Amino acid sequence: MKGRQLAIRTYPDHILRQTAKVVAKIDASTQRLIDNMLKTVTAAKGIGLAAPQVGKLKRIIVVTLPDQEPLVLINPVITKRSGERNVVEGCLSIPDYQSKLKRPKRIRIRGLDREGQPLQFRTNGQLAQVLDHEVDHLDGVLMLDHEEVPQ
Ligand code: ZN
Repeated sequence: MKGRQLAIRTYPDHILRQTAKVVAKIDASTQRLIDNMLKTVTAAKGIGLAAPQVGKLKRIIVVTLPDQEPLVLINPVITKRSGERNVVEGCLSIPDYQSKLKRPKRIRIRGLDREGQPLQFRTNGQLAQVLDHEVDHLDGVLMLDHEEVPQ
């Protein structure tokens, strides 16, 4: 696999709370960053990664679910969320911790693929969960923010 492994920023690193910028031009450095993100998430045995987690405030996410082609989305926008389900999830930036929270059952998302081609689809289940989690990272939102306060 191309790319090199990058250091993953961990909570409470302030970069995780910042808003990432829209990618205006998809160039060689964007491709390098995507290769490096794919390498990093694979090495960390994760299933998703957002650019701020490797210290880059760019709106890029990658999802690497087992037995599926890696998914790369640039400037992703979730245009619809519906339903709710209880999930338990982790985050590469919050090691050895799991959050219990609600994620949408279904989402509709659009963005650009790594070549800059527009992409739009609906999905559900784990892919919807991971995409919601990764898009949150682009706005400085962490799974901790969704945790329900114990009664
Ligand atoms: Zn995360």
